[in-house]
Amino acid sequence: MTQNQFLSGFIAILGSPNTGKSTLLNKMVGQKVSIISDKPQTTRNTIRGILTKENYQIVFLDTPGLHTTKNKLDEYMQKTANDTSRDVDAILFVVDAYVGIKERDTENLKRLLMIDIPVIVAINKIDKAKKEQVEKAKTVLKELNAKQIIEISAANGDGLPELENMLINYLIEGPKYYPDELYTDQPERLIAAEMIREKALVLLSEEVPHGIGVEIEKIEKREGKDLIYVAAVIYCERKTHKGIVIGAQGSMLKQIGSAARSDLQMLFGSKIYLELFVKVKEDWRNSRAMLKTLGYED
Ligand code: GDP
Ligand code: MG
Repeated sequence: MTQNQFLSGFIAILGSPNTGKSTLLNKMVGQKVSIISDKPQTTRNTIRGILTKENYQIVFLDTPGLHTTKNKLDEYMQKTANDTSRDVDAILFVVDAYVGIKERDTENLKRLLMIDIPVIVAINKIDKAKKEQVEKAKTVLKELNAKQIIEISAANGDGLPELENMLINYLIEGPKYYPDELYTDQPERLIAAEMIREKALVLLSEEVPHGIGVEIEKIEKREGKDLIYVAAVIYCERKTHKGIVIGAQGSMLKQIGSAARSDLQMLFGSKIYLELFVKVKEDWRNSRAMLKTLGYED
């Protein structure tokens, strides 16, 4: 590469749910742009994370996991994943060394290796997996004819500089798509909603399955004060869920609110007054209008 050449490109991060795609994206970009959860399929929109260095810019696309479809929301997520992988310079496929490479991983990987886009496979969670498990994963990948394989820990950053160097090889001479300081193209409203949803998912653990959605109703700067007022609605599918989300004397909602508030303060760089509402919207995951309101459809 010559001195004044600028390289850029789009990299889709694909892989089964829970393999650590969102964790990896956040770590690479150095900012929290995608939510992380033990619950599968928490990433609902394609999230762009942007890494800009002096000579190059990588735009990562964190897609919803590849999986079989059950309802409209799943269908939408699947479509996003498919659309995304077509128009990129390379695919970063993430597998989990600790749980091992499953059939769904090998099937997706086989499909991806057939198309005309370079595929880099990252064996993640090497901090947690045993050496034998990492070796096992490597053997399986080699049998599948994967050429670019790298061992990483998205959690502690091991292998990430090496991964970044590998990815640079797939960038092409091109524009800086986004300004230096931008690390995501997600509107703040959507990130704010995802942050609240992440806290709710974590705090509610298994009690309410992932049938909750968050909509930001208002973001308002308070005149003359270093304070932003945020009003958000947590939608759930059942009356019983509403009770759980609120908790005894509002205790659960309070916890969700205060956990989310500290993330929001970082996001907006301002004090936040957060008001949360809980509404029941039966079957919202099958309603087109509702998906649109929540930002899941264009
Ligand atoms: P995604 O569904 O592929 O986006 O996965 P997430 O990024 O949400 O991560 C799923 C879970 O795996 C979370 O609990 C993460 O904290 C955890 N995780 C991700 N990467 C690592 C890693 O490198 N090591 C360990 N030990 N855990 C990880
Ligand atoms: Mg994710």
